[in-house]
Amino acid sequence: MEISKTQSYITAENAPKGIEIKTSTRYGGFSSTPFDSLNMGYFTGDDITTVIKNYYYYQNITKTYNIVTLSQIHKDTVLEVDKENAADTMFSKADGLFTYENYLPLGVITADCLPVMIAGNKCISALHCGWRSLNAGIIDNAFKLFKKYDDIPFYAYIGAGICEKCYEVRDDLVQQLNPAYSPDQTLVEKGQGQYLLNMKKLASNALIYNGLNIDNIEISKYSSCCSKGFYSYRLENGKTGRMITTIQRAV
Ligand SMILES: [Zn+2]
Repeated sequence: MEISKTQSYITAENAPKGIEIKTSTRYGGFSSTPFDSLNMGYFTGDDITTVIKNYYYYQNITKTYNIVTLSQIHKDTVLEVDKENAADTMFSKADGLFTYENYLPLGVITADCLPVMIAGNKCISALHCGWRSLNAGIIDNAFKLFKKYDDIPFYAYIGAGICEKCYEVRDDLVQQLNPAYSPDQTLVEKGQGQYLLNMKKLASNALIYNGLNIDNIEISKYSSCCSKGFYSYRLENGKTGRMITTIQRAV
């Protein structure tokens, strides 16, 4: 599965009307090797002015302005953000964002971890899901916030991330997986304490556990590791850039 080198972002194809979800690729932008070239990660070691230029570029081509992002730490906290506290929330140490506002784009940064975007009738949420934050209950926490605002999520998007063929984990990690998300369905045993973990399936199970219908979950066909045009932390030994996935309600 390849994307064209002229394509600087991909779009969630089945997102409901008024919900815009996009993921940057590594094409376009200004960064040099090993961050080439549309690196959206501020904290990667890339030149910061170049990353800012990349944001300017992405915001203009996607018409997604004033994106709120975080300083992600692989935990389960989801922050409520509105237009009043958006600037103050920027770069907070957390892995999830939630808002009831229109035209307030929420962004998470990934390179193998999964971006998980959730939409209800009033609210939206953007989650950075590595196995740690996912397993700790970041999706459960997002659903609690929808409930707080009397909203019910009816669509979720699991974006480009590491695929089921590439994510090898050891049994000590497997033993920590939350049984509520039916991890048995997501694992293939390789022997000698090694397993392949299907993160997209695990995230999908966590969404279903919280009441979402499987038909309302869109899973990106792209993988960060096996599809060309994305950043992969594993494949590139940590010396690489990041994609951003943004969600906003545009009505
Ligand atoms: Zn792969």
